[in-house]
Amino acid sequence: MKVVAIDGPAGSGKGTIASILSKKCNLVNIDTGATYRCVALACLRNNLTLEDKEEIIKLSGEIDIKIDLDNKVYLNGEDVTDEIRSKEVTNIVSPVSSIVEVRKNMVDLQRKMASNYDVVMEGRDITTVVFPNANYKFYLDASLEKRVERRIKQNKEKGIDMSYDEVYENIKARDYNDMHKEVGALKRTDEQIYIDSTNMPIEEVVNKFIEVIEGDKNES
Ligand code: C5P
Repeated sequence: MKVVAIDGPAGSGKGTIASILSKKCNLVNIDTGATYRCVALACLRNNLTLEDKEEIIKLSGEIDIKIDLDNKVYLNGEDVTDEIRSKEVTNIVSPVSSIVEVRKNMVDLQRKMASNYDVVMEGRDITTVVFPNANYKFYLDASLEKRVERRIKQNKEKGIDMSYDEVYENIKARDYNDMHKEVGALKRTDEQIYIDSTNMPIEEVVNKFIEVIEGDKNES
């Protein structure tokens, strides 16, 4: 089993890069953020607020989350691929994912999803917690302004109506929260290959990843 692990903040391009790499390098693409987004959506549907910690933990252990090979996401059998990107989910997902027991349930699930496949997995704690022994570990970054710009473009394509200020404040708040979690915080380590994509076209970023992955193959 081969694991390509990518961590980085919201809007750094992890999803786009993982999707391209999965095709070019024949890897199953697992978006771990989608699992936390499913928990957040289930909370909204069950009218739970962030104060209902025990109920959220219970729910995170009961719901059925599946991601298929085309990256469609299913919550209890229902296709929620688009709904998990809504503003309402995006606004609560980071605090929901800060609950330690929720993380434990999702990390178990993510490891199960990856078993039996060669995978590219992206998130915040993949290189540090989920697969600390991954074959390749990357940290993909970009400036806050660039990440906001990219997210606004993506939102437009998906018909998600959020103003510049809303996206800016959401990403800034998630950055802070994601980097200061008690468990599974987003962090840079010496073992990751750091790539700053702020001023790089996608093809160049992809090539950097492939150089590392394929370069290794040529040496062995
Ligand atoms: O990657 P995405 O922006 O969809 O992730 C949504 C949220 O899920 C992140 O802001 C983060 O709080 C949480 N997350 C996490 N650990 C991961 C992936 C995502 O805590 N491995």
